[in-house]
Amino acid sequence: MFILKGIEQLEKAIIKAKKTRTQVKFIEFGVYSVKGTKGNFYRIECKKVGNEKQVICECLGASRGLVCWHSACALSLHVGLARQRQTA
Ligand SMILES: [Zn+2]
Repeated sequence: MFILKGIEQLEKAIIKAKKTRTQVKFIEFGVYSVKGTKGNFYRIECKKVGNEKQVICECLGASRGLVCWHSACALSLHVGLARQRQTA
């Protein structure tokens, strides 16, 4: 799990995510499933706790507090959806 403080934190992960061109599944608002390089799926949760934006991914990197590319994939979808909700 890591706390999202700004988009610049995601830059490297986004580059990796774009190269990988994986599949992102929408489960519900804030919950996504991203296909890993070995064909397995990771569940990613994006939620707001107080003023913090928490991103939880099941992978090893994220469990160590790193920003993983799975999270970057899920977040790019999540941010778009969150924006639509605000303007709807
Ligand atoms: Zn991950």
